[in-house]
Amino acid sequence: MNDPLISVVSPIFNEGEGVDRFVERVGEVLEGAGLRYELVLVDDGSSDDSWSRIAHRARLDARVRGVRLSRNFGKEAALLAGLEQAGGDAIVVIDSDLQHPPSAIPAMVRRWQAGAHVVEAVKRNRTGQSLGNRLSSRVFNTAFTGLTRVDLVNATDFRLLGRPALDALRQMPEHSSFFRGTSSWIGFTRATVEVDIDHRAGGASRWTLRGLFRLAVNGLTSFTSAPLHLVTLAGIGFALFSVVLGVQTLVRWISGGSVAGFTTVILLLLVTGTFVLLGLGVIGEYLARIHEEVRRRPRYLIQERSAGVFEQLVPEQHAER
Ligand code: UDP
Ligand code: MG
Repeated sequence: MNDPLISVVSPIFNEGEGVDRFVERVGEVLEGAGLRYELVLVDDGSSDDSWSRIAHRARLDARVRGVRLSRNFGKEAALLAGLEQAGGDAIVVIDSDLQHPPSAIPAMVRRWQAGAHVVEAVKRNRTGQSLGNRLSSRVFNTAFTGLTRVDLVNATDFRLLGRPALDALRQMPEHSSFFRGTSSWIGFTRATVEVDIDHRAGGASRWTLRGLFRLAVNGLTSFTSAPLHLVTLAGIGFALFSVVLGVQTLVRWISGGSVAGFTTVILLLLVTGTFVLLGLGVIGEYLARIHEEVRRRPRYLIQERSAGVFEQLVPEQHAER
């Protein structure tokens, strides 16, 4: 029987020489473990020389393939593009900045061979993340886990999916996907391995605050309608509050007390105004999601693919095919 083929899928955005570092490291680890593999690198519209490095690597090594998206579609879209290109029996998704240690891949593969369909790498530590970053992701992940029952605490995007799990994931048609959520949502027999998250190998995080905010909102809106119910709850709370306040005022008026209150009025207006706007905002986010989904635009566009070793050696034959 043939050895199983492991596809390693990695998104790349302006990683520069990090591309070479990554390809070499993955090769070292997987060859060392005697695994048959292919490496699918997705250039997410980098503006530096990432693509020429990927193309160069692909020319040197038949196991390396690259696709180049037509612009920066974001990490989630790049991941999807990579997953759709992957041809392996098991697919490992990993960041290209070496924050996810490739050395954990053999252990993940062993779990898969022992029967798990989805193997998640969970964080043992969080080196390489700033305190603010750690705090905000902690708050978000805990809130997300509480609202949706999809466990994100300590979760990473570093995952192995068996072929059936990947096929299930690919059936999900949503436009703005959230890999960490969807790959939990599908279920399947799961296992975890613990990894140490490393410092980033080159430069700073490629995420912007805006990008992270969008990711958080997309994640929430695609997995739960709890925020909408919270708006309703807040409305009920306000109604009760108004009744109590009304009764109290009435009692005071009847018993002859004067009702002081310009400041109170202003404050109440501000508070209600805030809640009304927040409520509208929450509804707006869901509406925007619906709008985005019904447009049914492609989730990413491929501009070109790397030419492999074979195309190089015998270009005519390839052209005939
Ligand atoms: N990335 C991407 N497109 C983007 C942003 C990031 O493909 O728009 C890639 C990036 O090259 C890296 C991975 O996603 O391989 C994780 O990015 P980063 O390390 O910047 O994020 P963090 O580790 O801070 O979550
Ligand atoms: Mg990183």
